[in-house]
Amino acid sequence: MAYAPGTAWQGHYPHHDEHLPNAQSVSSRAGAVQELFTLLSPLLPDQPFSRQLQAEEQREILSAIQNLVPTLSRDNRVYATFHDGQVQDPLGGGSYAFEKDLVGPLLTALKDDEINSLTPEDSRDPASFDGTITRPIIVHAGAQPNNSPHVGTLIVFCYAFAVAREIRGRLRTKEIRSGRKMAPVSVEITFVDTAPVNGYDKKVDGVKYQTAYRDVNGALATHLPDYYQVLHFLSAWADIPFITSYQHQFFSDPYMPELIRYFAESRLTLGKQLSPKYGTVALRAACPVPDCRLAEKHGVNNQYRPFVTHANLDMESDGVTDWTITFHCPMHGPHFISTSDPKELTRLEANAPARNLLRSMSQLLDTKRHHVRVTGADYAGMYQETFLYRPLVDWAYKSTGGRGIPRTPHILYSPLVVDWSGAKLSKSLYVRKDGYQAMKLLETDALCSYAQMKEYFGDNGTLGLGRLWKEVTEWMDDPKKLFRAFSVEYLRGIILDGRRWN
Ligand SMILES: [Zn+2]
Repeated sequence: MAYAPGTAWQGHYPHHDEHLPNAQSVSSRAGAVQELFTLLSPLLPDQPFSRQLQAEEQREILSAIQNLVPTLSRDNRVYATFHDGQVQDPLGGGSYAFEKDLVGPLLTALKDDEINSLTPEDSRDPASFDGTITRPIIVHAGAQPNNSPHVGTLIVFCYAFAVAREIRGRLRTKEIRSGRKMAPVSVEITFVDTAPVNGYDKKVDGVKYQTAYRDVNGALATHLPDYYQVLHFLSAWADIPFITSYQHQFFSDPYMPELIRYFAESRLTLGKQLSPKYGTVALRAACPVPDCRLAEKHGVNNQYRPFVTHANLDMESDGVTDWTITFHCPMHGPHFISTSDPKELTRLEANAPARNLLRSMSQLLDTKRHHVRVTGADYAGMYQETFLYRPLVDWAYKSTGGRGIPRTPHILYSPLVVDWSGAKLSKSLYVRKDGYQAMKLLETDALCSYAQMKEYFGDNGTLGLGRLWKEVTEWMDDPKKLFRAFSVEYLRGIILDGRRWN
């Protein structure tokens, strides 16, 4: 289709078939070029007049550009959008409530946690508690190391180090004023090395199986060095120490036997709560046969059996029963773990909602340390209310003898990076489907991974990551900015072009 010169943009992008076959595509491109050329000609310096353009004329030129842009490539369609470069941070909800301060309310909550969970060994008197936080504060974040860190992951990491630095700064001020030693602050990054490796999944009799990164030779080694490089930079810039951990350490937690017993006992309720799709608790273990290592994805064939051991017979039958969980490999049959053997529990794997719940439970039971978690804003809202808080309340009242209450998890939600339509810039779409072809053309794919960012700048990563770190620390100084999303276009300016938006 051709566009008549001067036709105003009518809000209609050409359909795919309007550019096919080739001949038509060429004619529509020629028409669009002609249209733009006609509109721009009067602006050339050798033309007789030069004047301020009227709004209508500007609109015509902009719409002619929008008509032309999609015709530039048949295979790599792009569209032009325009914006005024004005950055708004409107207030409302979280951004209103935490407009001036995010860390202050968090520290108040940690103080309350400490006083509400004093152990018998703690000599402090709750009535005269002076607000000193003595338990180490750990800021947690996690990642599935299935690609070089994506910009969303980098923002989560920056946020974790930035909030840890801010907490430490506040505590140091108090330390100087009071002369009392305050708690140390650190970051812990947990790698989900049980994430599935692409191409290693299987479906047998309608049941899905997968193989974890930790069970495929060399799979983890591909991208982990990029994660460690990022973490070392951020740790140095924030002057905050970090440690990393993996899933076998997660399942070595001292509370894990008790929590897995609870999962086994409550599996019917929890299954419905944690998996509206399958109604099952997605606890997994890889087949122990070395060359197999398949794990059933949703735990639909798991069998749970209570048993009494000599150890728990002596406990005067106080309701503590151990459990075996039997898993099924489609090639090698059943294999099991027992909750009476903490070492066997390290074979366990869990999907995201089950990990989220187990982690929160063990952290709420921990009376030696404070835990703060940073995670992507796509987990905020209904996800947490449904998959975390609802089962957590059940557990806290039924199973902890009051130990799990009155505390709640401390979770900070990191701003999402969104594409032109407002959808999250997805790591898995990028990894699995070679998505975002247009981002390659525009070179914004440098935001898709740390490796590409380094390639874009031709450096060791400090330039791009340094700009992102500076940006996130500014959000920390102006916390209303932590309660919104940021577009690829915005970050392109900040990180790739090194510009400041208004
Ligand atoms: Zn097997």
